[in-house]
Amino acid sequence: MEKKIILDGNVVAKHVKDQLKNRIEELKGKDVVPCLATILVGDDPSSETYVRMKGNACEKLAILSKRIHMSKDTTTQELLEKITELNDDPSVHGILLQHPVPGHIDERKAFEAIAIEKDVDGVTSLGYGQTAFGFGEYPSCTPAAILEIMDFYKLNAEGKHAVVVGRSPILGKPVSALLLNRNATVTTCHSYTQNLPQIVKQADIVVAAVGKPNFIKGEWIKEGAIVLDAGYNEGNIGDAEYDSCFEKAFAITPVPGGVGPVTISMLLKHTVHAAGKSLEIHEKHK
Ligand code: NAP
Repeated sequence: MEKKIILDGNVVAKHVKDQLKNRIEELKGKDVVPCLATILVGDDPSSETYVRMKGNACEKLAILSKRIHMSKDTTTQELLEKITELNDDPSVHGILLQHPVPGHIDERKAFEAIAIEKDVDGVTSLGYGQTAFGFGEYPSCTPAAILEIMDFYKLNAEGKHAVVVGRSPILGKPVSALLLNRNATVTTCHSYTQNLPQIVKQADIVVAAVGKPNFIKGEWIKEGAIVLDAGYNEGNIGDAEYDSCFEKAFAITPVPGGVGPVTISMLLKHTVHAAGKSLEIHEKHK
């Protein structure tokens, strides 16, 4: 029997960051320092932590992190003006608006205001559409992380049945599109799906993106399947019940230390790529 693989996100994230170091040096030699602007609106403690983690990850790689913290009373208009200012700032290469923003703000309108070439978090509908069509530069970071893990461990999706549990715009839908583009046969499940355990049981690849701790059970998993758990719930618990899924799976991501660390490295990768693109455009117009 083949040996089981624990898909170690920390190893994959380190590999991605090591590759980026050379590119960052190269860009610096041309007077370009990649810069990610993060916008946090309000004082939600989890959001503050996420934004801080992303900013710190940038700084560790010598990517500039421009941290913008706006008050919880910010209006949609004020947020749009800030995004426009960052769109127009040539020293900023990527913009991340931390989700969720306070309820009175039109979040979709704010996401859509991000210029496509700076949408390194893949939140605009144009970015999503391009990803679905197969030519998007920056798919949203968690779906990109899932594919990065598969690539690192040489797990081929072609011809496989992938079952994605969840259909959110930042996770379930784009990861379904990416897997479809890799020639998997994709079933996307959601809260109205009937007979979920039977559907998951048919999967060669299971993506857990539900937002419910330990939701996917080992008894639903086909022997030898690949389980990719994007879930992250309070207490460092994934959306798949790790121990029972481990028993059945051929390969599985742990939580923590699976998809999470790779997601942040994808944000860095996209920001560095966006900085490189801006340089190319600048040189073309010289
Ligand atoms: P979300 O927006 O809440 O979406 C959850 C999805 O799960 C929805 O599509 C929902 O279906 C579906 N769902 C809920 N209950 C279900 C059920 N009983 N059966 C089948 N499907 C069900 O969540 P999200 O933002 O995509 O996040 C999902 C998970 O990923 C969370 O644990 C989150 O913390 C984690 N996450 C991790 C990262 C990372 O970096 N690792 C990044 C983002 C999110 P409906 O559409 O029908 O409501």
